Amino acid sequence: MTPEDAAATLAEIAYLLRHKGDSHRARAFSRVATSVLRDRPDIDALRARGQLESIDGVGATIARILAELVDTGTSTYLDKLREELKLPSLSDMQFELSPLVEMGYRGDLHAHTDWSDGHASITQMAQAAKARGYQYLAITDHSPRITVVNGLGPERLAAQRRMIDAANQEVEGITILQGIEVDILEDGTLDLPDDTLAALDVVIASPHMKLRMERAAMTERMLLAVRHPHVDIVGHPTGRRPGSRAGAEYDFEAVFREAASRGVVMEMDCDPARMDLSPELAALAASCGCRLSLDSDAHAPDQLLYVDLGIWMARRAGVETDRIINWLPLPELREVFA
Ligand SMILES: [Zn+2]
Ligand SMILES: [Zn+2]
Repeated sequence: MTPEDAAATLAEIAYLLRHKGDSHRARAFSRVATSVLRDRPDIDALRARGQLESIDGVGATIARILAELVDTGTSTYLDKLREELKLPSLSDMQFELSPLVEMGYRGDLHAHTDWSDGHASITQMAQAAKARGYQYLAITDHSPRITVVNGLGPERLAAQRRMIDAANQEVEGITILQGIEVDILEDGTLDLPDDTLAALDVVIASPHMKLRMERAAMTERMLLAVRHPHVDIVGHPTGRRPGSRAGAEYDFEAVFREAASRGVVMEMDCDPARMDLSPELAALAASCGCRLSLDSDAHAPDQLLYVDLGIWMARRAGVETDRIINWLPLPELREVFA
């Protein structure tokens, strides 16, 4: 049982519990899904030693669910919830049409591959996105600053462009865009030169480090990032990890207004470990005039379904789909990124 598989099951349970209105229990499951993704415990070994409760946030109930998951690969608790709410199971959904596609969702703009810290190739991600019914998928690996994940500098980006061109030939019926998730450095500059960013189809600028900066300095840092001429989207704009790490604090309204005036999109990152922007901040961004994106931040093909799990955030924020750029046809999307 990999931490990702365990976390996906726990996240789905949390999602269904939230559907049922049991937000208290949902939070407990979300918290454990987050700690499993963060700490990556050896779940099989803990099960063998009877120590599942040593995982952050796990009590007797969740330990029983995890034990069954390790032993049988399934969860009767999850099956019961699915049955009760009549929703398709994750494994049925994985490589089938995303339910969002029926609502007009056209593609995911934030996904990683094995060029940085993802677990699948460009082609595998493209095939999974195509199976979900997408018209486009943006590959947005990390920039060099995050050395632990083998981030891409100008040379590797040029090489990756050739691979993406090849994948566009190989996988028909979907357009693979080349993007980057570039780090917003401490001083608000970006982790790659301008001419490198200019050559990409889409640039996501994300804060990953030094999130606990003093508020005024953090506001300046984020304002500089949204003013950068090549930035299209601000990725997971607070960097929060619900249950474990508070996000950056800054003058959200000032930054959202600046982003809106420059056509910079604010992201709702649907990774259950992030959910960033939160529904509350997404509502504020929309009221400031921002457009939003709804992305998975997938690091593996099956994680593309995080957007299916995250659509509740847009609903709760009251954000209509005409404000979410993933609903745009490709030519109009390219105009947003021009
Ligand atoms: Zn990121
Ligand atoms: Zn990412």
